[in-house]
Amino acid sequence: MNNPYRQLPSIDRLISHAELVEATHYFGHTSVRNAARILLEDTRDTISSGKPAPDENMLVAALLQQLHDTLSPSLYPVINGSGVIVHTNLGRAPLSAAALDAMIAVASGYSNLEYNLSSGKRGGRYTHAERLLCELTGAEAALVVNNNAAAFTLLLRSVAAGKEVIVSRGELVEIGGGFRIPDILRQSGAELVEVGTTNRTRVSDYESALSEETAAFLKIHRSNFKIIGFTESTPLSALVELAGTHADSVAVLNDLGSGTLLDTRPFGLEYEPTVQDSVEAGTDATTFSGDKLLGGPQAGVIVGNKALIDDLKRQPLTRALRVDKTTLAALQATLLAYLRGTATQDIPVWQMISAPLDALARRVQQWAEHLTQAGVAVEVRPGSSAVGGGSLPGQTLPTTLLAVLSDQEEQLSKHLRMLETPVVARIEEDTLVFDPRTVLPDQDVALLRAIEMVWEQI
Ligand SMILES: *Cc1c(COP(=O)(O)O)cnc(C)c1O
Repeated sequence: MNNPYRQLPSIDRLISHAELVEATHYFGHTSVRNAARILLEDTRDTISSGKPAPDENMLVAALLQQLHDTLSPSLYPVINGSGVIVHTNLGRAPLSAAALDAMIAVASGYSNLEYNLSSGKRGGRYTHAERLLCELTGAEAALVVNNNAAAFTLLLRSVAAGKEVIVSRGELVEIGGGFRIPDILRQSGAELVEVGTTNRTRVSDYESALSEETAAFLKIHRSNFKIIGFTESTPLSALVELAGTHADSVAVLNDLGSGTLLDTRPFGLEYEPTVQDSVEAGTDATTFSGDKLLGGPQAGVIVGNKALIDDLKRQPLTRALRVDKTTLAALQATLLAYLRGTATQDIPVWQMISAPLDALARRVQQWAEHLTQAGVAVEVRPGSSAVGGGSLPGQTLPTTLLAVLSDQEEQLSKHLRMLETPVVARIEEDTLVFDPRTVLPDQDVALLRAIEMVWEQI
């Protein structure tokens, strides 16, 4: 009887196979060697449990697979055919060309990130986006941190630690990813005072909860759900007025969530309160995300009165939440498009929101003709896109969809997700559909090729 252990190659012999030599150029000698050692150890274990020794080619293939699975980059582009414009799981807002250029320019060399060029001394990182934010929103001052959750946490800690914050019961939301408003308040050291009911909160409710301990009134955008029917909420301006009548200083804080700078109504959507509205109402601070409806990089923006923002800038926590140079560069470039009035032309999120229905229909028609010729059974049908990202909950934009006519929709969808450039589609009424609104213009060819490929696989 052959000793099965002796049929196993040595580590050196295994990694001298041509494919593994090539893998060494990619993953490095140490990784390939370590993976080979572990594989051979595991194989000895399986032999000791009575299994036969695998042949050498199987070991090479297993090793390559293992290296690819564990060491290949795991973050890469996908094609979003889902029709959800601000899709948190797919990285939210794609950036504008100008934002990408600005990021490359500051990232590929040195920059004046914290360097005052006129004095030759240390400068302020936060001056870069601040003036643009003030110009656009009408606020006195602004601060940019890592994301809106950070902005919100920093704000509460600075304004309300050890004191009370009054919030409507209708706004005690969970935003997603476990971000619950009451938990954040507790973590900031503030005490939550709930007022009103889920569907109705009046200014008198805030008034009767006011005390010497009150640090702030807090308004939170409901973001991912909607209360309909018999409802009443208190306008910001009424809270500002009430805060003004109180003897002690009470701040009015507003977490807008998505935060739009543009009026959403011309695009057939309901009115979404803008950042400018919040500033104009006289709030002390307003927070919003950089990568939701703003269409920029991941960031949390706080705009508000100068004294409050100056306090935030001095908080030690601010240092822990600071943004990097590429974020500031992308944010500046994104904000400039709003200043110039070219947001709907330049910023992908707004290009998608403003895409005309007839242009979407023409595009899907072309997709359908191409795929029909390639032998794929498809159909064009009306549907709807979602804005997503916790903005405009429940609201959709009319679109035209491409439907792939197959009862293997789950299989097709899985195959599409496993491609080198994965495609994420949507399953609607047991049919796989693709929404052109969220497929970037230069991705058409790749999308069609992907659909043809998976069609042949099933
Ligand atoms: C999305 C959202 C947040 C969190 O913002 P991030 O930028 O994801 O940290 C906070 N509050 C509201 C109301 C939101 O919609």
